[in-house]
Amino acid sequence: MEIADLPLPAQLAASYTDHGIRELYPPQAACVEAGLFSGKNLLIAIPTASGKTLVAEMAMHHQVANGGKCLYIVPLRALASEKFEEFSGKGLRVGIATGDFDRRDEYLGRNDIIVATSEKVDSLLRNQTPWLSEISLLVIDEVHLIDDPSRGATLEMVITKLRHKNEGLQIIALSATIGNPGDLAGWLDAELVESDWRPVELREGAFLLDTIHFTDSIRRIERRSKHEDLDLVLDTVAEGGQCLVFVSSRKNAEAFAKRAASGLKLSNPILAGYADWIRSNATTDMGRTLAACVGMGAAFHHAGLPREERQIVEQGFREGQIKVIASTPTLAAGLNLPARRVIIRDYLRFNAGEGMVPIPVREYRQMAGRAGRPHLDPYGEAILIAKSDDMVDELFDCYIEAPPEDVRSRCADEAILCTHVLSLIATGFARERNEVLGFMDGTFYANQGENPLALKRVVDRVLDFLLEAEMITDVGGWLEATEYGSLVSRLYIDPRSAELIVTAMTGRKEYTEIGLLHLLCSTPDMSTLYVRQKDIYLLDRFLADHQDELWLEIPWDGGEGFDRSLKTALLLADWVNETGEDTICERYNVGPGDIHGMVESVTWLVHAAQRLAGLFAPHLLHPIEEMELRVQHGVRREVLPLIRLRGIGRVRARRLFNNGIDSIEALRAAGPERVGNILGSGIAARIFEQLDGGGGEIGEPAETQSTLSRFG
Ligand code: ADP
Repeated sequence: MEIADLPLPAQLAASYTDHGIRELYPPQAACVEAGLFSGKNLLIAIPTASGKTLVAEMAMHHQVANGGKCLYIVPLRALASEKFEEFSGKGLRVGIATGDFDRRDEYLGRNDIIVATSEKVDSLLRNQTPWLSEISLLVIDEVHLIDDPSRGATLEMVITKLRHKNEGLQIIALSATIGNPGDLAGWLDAELVESDWRPVELREGAFLLDTIHFTDSIRRIERRSKHEDLDLVLDTVAEGGQCLVFVSSRKNAEAFAKRAASGLKLSNPILAGYADWIRSNATTDMGRTLAACVGMGAAFHHAGLPREERQIVEQGFREGQIKVIASTPTLAAGLNLPARRVIIRDYLRFNAGEGMVPIPVREYRQMAGRAGRPHLDPYGEAILIAKSDDMVDELFDCYIEAPPEDVRSRCADEAILCTHVLSLIATGFARERNEVLGFMDGTFYANQGENPLALKRVVDRVLDFLLEAEMITDVGGWLEATEYGSLVSRLYIDPRSAELIVTAMTGRKEYTEIGLLHLLCSTPDMSTLYVRQKDIYLLDRFLADHQDELWLEIPWDGGEGFDRSLKTALLLADWVNETGEDTICERYNVGPGDIHGMVESVTWLVHAAQRLAGLFAPHLLHPIEEMELRVQHGVRREVLPLIRLRGIGRVRARRLFNNGIDSIEALRAAGPERVGNILGSGIAARIFEQLDGGGGEIGEPAETQSTLSRFG
């Protein structure tokens, strides 16, 4: 099927032709035949890189040409930016929904296509954003993530709400290969387009000693090093390809990258440039190790790395300079970096409470699907590593030839449902118990034929909790959110978090920094740090001196949850007291990327606590407001006046303060020359530009500068 024969706007068709896209791939043609351009709902379950995004893009342009508006939901913020870039510049107005959760982002309604994460769409629904009712095409990327234990229910609720709200909505759901696509298609009233066609041939196999065993052939690998897994990498590089290596932990990723670097020993000015950049910005040993590896053509990639370093690694790999990336499997979903050979070295992963468990088949497929760059590699190879003959067969049975798991609904979980039921009531989706149940009838959960009684029981328990917490009222069966309930729904925090915060704040406690941080780290909205044996000493020593400053009681049995929250709170207390990032990383065994993630989450919770204090504990309002800024920038109170300037972060603010400059007035009095001596003339010039009139944001309330793009 030719692009030229499709009902597409000329500009889009031209842009495809410019990129050499003239004919549809077979599964794409199947989508057109299934009703892509006639408003049919579609569930497209085809492998990675077989052209799903392009199908969605064509449908969006077709909709807009007919007066429609499109919403494209992605699972990760990084993917939102990627899709935003991809859809921009082709004739339509494209917007990306980032920003705080308690905003309506009305300006976004001007766009034809809006890209957002499911959490952001959920928050827009809670804030009753008007343009949502104009959406006529909903694209759901990676819809199989409905099965994700922590975030799947939100996606399911968002889909159910939008279908409920927007009559005639066309839905295009994009999915990896899953075990039960028919169920999902049935729920969505969608035509199922399923195929295992791929643009590049994928060969899957298991490697033992020096041989890759494929289904019907073998391939010998030359021994080039002392390590078999490294031989696989060197072999691909020798024939002009690149490798992605999935390992079970960050430590393993770093160790593998080091080995690969010394095996490759590449050297050229471009790699040296990347390495210099990383080295000069690195604040930790991890950054310095990465720089050393990248200089020789290898890298590691995991959530502990700062974003800028991850971006350099991705760019270096896309440009073909970095030949191998060792990564943790959690990144397989987000990492859009195809490579000729994908090595799944470790297929066991540590899960809290379960120990080392085999990864699901679906995850294996996601990793394997990264093999083979369209138009660049003659084929792709996904290789699992075996340790014995028996294991070769096992790997074939359990992964290569195994069917992917079924997708199941996650929305009957009481804790998760609590937040969604509150939002249904607060936004007027449901006014009575029966309406809540009626709404739930539209979910995938109900559609899968799960026991309706079980769901009713959970809904009743949730309603009881919300009534008792006074987040909703029940007048003769008529349910309504209270001011408190409606605030909690808009703030997009778990009602159980709100209850914990409000109960502690109204307990007439004196404000203490650690009291607040520990409270917030004890809420279900905050993920907390793992506590090692040696941390216990640190925690006990802290408690001996500071127990009185905590707002929550120490549980009588100690409690792992308590220790985890306290350790996380101590990290954040170090952060707001300007402890260096490298010290924090070492003290708490984390990477800069983790600090960034925790700061983002807690900043949002401090913001929520500040709004709740406004309602229930005005005496705490001021210190909490101050903490919102402090936690966001990682500074003590005394440098807050300086941090409001663009270009001044925690390090520069401290340097100014230590030189006697502690306010905007003091900066003005010091003048550009003296400030230039302290911070460098370029930064000084930027500061004085702001002071001399261009600085609209100086002294603005915290909110305009704050907490931008938490999940986006
Ligand atoms: P997916 O979303 O399934 O991972 P994409 O839609 O991103 O796949 O497509 C992967 C790559 O293939 C992109 O570079 C895209 O431009 C290209 N592509 C998609 N469809 C075609 C086609 N019909 N002909 C040639 N290239 C295509």
